[in-house]
Amino acid sequence: MAEVAGRGVAERTGRVSATLPSWASHVAYKLAPPPLLLVQAFVNTIGMGADMLAHAEQAHAWLTDAGLIDAAFSAGPASPAFAADLRLAREARASIQALITGTSDGGQLTQDELRPLDMVGQHAQARLQVAPAGLVGLQVASPAGRVAGGLLGLLLIIRDAQADGSWDRLKLCGNPDCRWAFYDRSHSRRGAWCNMATCGNRLKNRNLRARRASSADTGEELPPG
Ligand SMILES: [Zn+2]
Repeated sequence: MAEVAGRGVAERTGRVSATLPSWASHVAYKLAPPPLLLVQAFVNTIGMGADMLAHAEQAHAWLTDAGLIDAAFSAGPASPAFAADLRLAREARASIQALITGTSDGGQLTQDELRPLDMVGQHAQARLQVAPAGLVGLQVASPAGRVAGGLLGLLLIIRDAQADGSWDRLKLCGNPDCRWAFYDRSHSRRGAWCNMATCGNRLKNRNLRARRASSADTGEELPPG
């Protein structure tokens, strides 16, 4: 057992405020504050017509860069161990998407959505750690070089965000073709789009066209705009 994700996460998120870390360079806007940024970056490895976890080489590069796998102990992108890890990472990503949607909609996760997160808990553990200065924390322990520890680290970040309320601000874009994870900093907390100019207006125009089409059928008049 070796500490894997906790250290990487802490080191990397400490630098976020100065410049965006390379593992979050694809997020671009409506960034969550660290360490929640790592969850947002992980969820957004899929979207905008691309999946950064689709191919083993690229996935391994991103997961090690993000500190979710310790490259020093990894058997490499071509190994059977990584193939299994990649499946788990993709499934856990879908579960975290469902977790985000469930939170904003108040919905319940299905057994299929919960199963990958249960598996993470079976393969990695969090151990109590009390620092000399008295700070009580949790340290992730998992088989060295495997992704379960990194994923457990993400779940611990989610747990802390749920406790401090910041989790409710992480949302998936309301455009069903997009589903980009964004951090809603609006005062009302009612933001629904990753980007108003693209997804928001596109969907509003689509809905307006649908309403106009149906009002044309009924002869009813709609106000412009
Ligand atoms: Zn969007």
